[in-house]
Amino acid sequence: MVDSNDILKLSAAFGIRAEYKTEMFPSFLSDVRSKKVCLVCDRNTEAFAVPVCDWLKGSGVACTLFRYDEYEPVADETHCAAAAKALAGCDYALAVGAGTLNDICKYVTFLQGKECGVLATAASMDGYSSGVTPLIKNGFKITENAHTVKHVLLDFGILCSAPKIMTGAGAGDILAKYCCLTDWKISHLLTGEPLNEEAAGLMRVALQKCVDEIDGIRACGKEGVDSLMRALLISGYAMVIAGNSRPASGAEHHMSHFLEMDFLRRGKPIPLHGVKVGLGTMVSLRMYHRLAETDRGFPGKEEVLREAEKLPQPEFVRDVLASLQCPTRFSQIGVSEDTVRDMLFNCYKIRDRFTIMTLYNRYDLMRGAADALIAEFY
Ligand SMILES: [Zn+2]
Repeated sequence: MVDSNDILKLSAAFGIRAEYKTEMFPSFLSDVRSKKVCLVCDRNTEAFAVPVCDWLKGSGVACTLFRYDEYEPVADETHCAAAAKALAGCDYALAVGAGTLNDICKYVTFLQGKECGVLATAASMDGYSSGVTPLIKNGFKITENAHTVKHVLLDFGILCSAPKIMTGAGAGDILAKYCCLTDWKISHLLTGEPLNEEAAGLMRVALQKCVDEIDGIRACGKEGVDSLMRALLISGYAMVIAGNSRPASGAEHHMSHFLEMDFLRRGKPIPLHGVKVGLGTMVSLRMYHRLAETDRGFPGKEEVLREAEKLPQPEFVRDVLASLQCPTRFSQIGVSEDTVRDMLFNCYKIRDRFTIMTLYNRYDLMRGAADALIAEFY
């Protein structure tokens, strides 16, 4: 079993050099000293990029800065093309941002055969350590191959000052692992799908550490955000160990993807990944707990009930999300009630992966549950 206590060593095992800020980032500096570095930021993260650029230049590193002229760029063709142009003359890209900028840099440098890293500006999602990247192409969300970053730079001065909703999104993406791991377990029990104990165990321990630190996370304190950031990195490593996204993605992610397609279709800005996943997590948890009250039988019910008993109530997740200024109802993110109803009946079709959503729809449990789920969460 890999040791999740030493996130720096664990990251190194996956080819990523994670570094906490001390006097800036000496290990990173020694790795990029002979490279031409380009920092990629947006209007929100420019304030964090400029001092790093100055520091690199002051240390003798050739460094340029590319800034998107927007507060919230999206990872689509236009933005990737702009980054590709900016990165043409350099050989290392450092994203200064969270999900979107990291995705753009990972993808573009992968295509250009260059290295990249990220100065994480928010503990908002678990893509920092992943080797794939979600992109919008022709108005569709797709997952493209990329490579993993060489460096993840962690500065708690920055991470703790991120907007609360971003830390809340990260908490939503981690609390979701309760459901991902349980979906995986019930699929193992009911369908015989292989369960990788090492990956699941690693994720479970990281999740538990976050729950132990939940007050610190709610307060966006250093210890809390540290445990959250570790768990977000570990989520990527657990997926590598499992060879798929099972440890980090279940029905709540299918709900999120389903809604994302609706936002894209309507040309509306997409809410943060972890915000949607957090909402889906509450729905999944309620679905698990409702099973004890239903008379309907289905194969493997006893096993599923046993797993459900180990899960927290959705109110726990709701309180955490609310304290971090995240929406706790679907109506707050700008989707229609009809779309949410459609999601409850159809999002399980997005992937051929057995989850609580598959179970509800396969055994006709959703018809009796949808109204109550909508009343509680819409
Ligand atoms: Zn996620």
